[in-house]
Amino acid sequence: MRRKLVAVHELYPQLLDELSASFDLTHFTRLASDADHRAFEEAMSEAEAYVGSNVAFTEALLDKTPHLKVVASVSVGVDAYPVESMRERGIVLTNTPDVLTESTADTGFLLLMMAARRAGEMLRMVRNHEWKASLSRRHFGLDVHGKTLGIVGMGRIGQAVAKRGHDGFGMSVRYYNRSAKPEVESALDARRVDLDALFRDSDFICVTIPLSAETEGLIGRNCFSLTKPHAVFVNISRGKVVREDELVACLQDGTLHYAGLDVFDQEPLPVNSPLLALDNAVCLPHIGSSTFQTRNAMCDLAVDNVKRVLDGEEPLTAV
Ligand code: NAP
Repeated sequence: MRRKLVAVHELYPQLLDELSASFDLTHFTRLASDADHRAFEEAMSEAEAYVGSNVAFTEALLDKTPHLKVVASVSVGVDAYPVESMRERGIVLTNTPDVLTESTADTGFLLLMMAARRAGEMLRMVRNHEWKASLSRRHFGLDVHGKTLGIVGMGRIGQAVAKRGHDGFGMSVRYYNRSAKPEVESALDARRVDLDALFRDSDFICVTIPLSAETEGLIGRNCFSLTKPHAVFVNISRGKVVREDELVACLQDGTLHYAGLDVFDQEPLPVNSPLLALDNAVCLPHIGSSTFQTRNAMCDLAVDNVKRVLDGEEPLTAV
């Protein structure tokens, strides 16, 4: 008998065909309606395996999944899952580290460069037919090369951002992290500092720390009030690591010069978000890992993890 798998993700066509052939598959691209949610819960009540992202795994949902053996998240962040409770219930949780590191670091550098050169504002100016003469000083941006880059959370993605800054742009690297990373310090000439020093001394700050009980709301006015006059703040981790109301207020009153954001407190970003009215904030719709190659690799890894667990083997990337 084919095993029951629920997938909530936009799987690429070949993988969808493969899964349909080898599993009793219930597939949702996303859970868009109440009917989708009801059908999802019904399918989960019989499923042995789940592959997906953007579904909040509550205790109430887990109570309805007596046969569930493996949850393969198509993400590296696992803030949407009650990790301890799943462990106690004997459900294996897997994620997709490494395969998304470089694409997400690219997104960090994209935002850093967009903010430095005010690319969003310049694009709007051209589109709105406001480019009528050569640029004046009020349109100028900032250099990136040779500046100081501060990384909050020097893990896989943080290191990949730091490498871009150090190797590509001759930047000095500072980092804030739970543990020291001596190998990064020697490879990138990076210096570990406390959070205040990082915000005080960096020209560009990039947040790549996971969201957890410890890091929720870690960054707010306490940090932004320490920044240099032209500091650029980039967040590619999770919106809730930052107190967004304080970020907005600091951008509005000039405490913080500029922000580049891929992630937000609420996603999709509400149409009435004050961030959208700010010239000194460039916002992307959580594109961190969303390239064809990376998303396919994430799906492949998640499916490999499911197959391994159902076959009684160790998954490749357990949380
Ligand atoms: P990772 O390799 O686990 O790195 C996380 C780093 O943060 C580690 O160095 C860890 O320190 C440090 N850290 C964790 N908790 C800390 C704390 N309380 N205080 C200080 N340092 C702490 O993770 P990753 O693969 O780089 O991914 C990082 C995050 O990026 C993910 O969790 C996810 O939320 C986000 N992400 C976003 C996107 C996007 O689309 N924008 C895409 C991918 C990932 P230790 O080494 O000491 O444990």
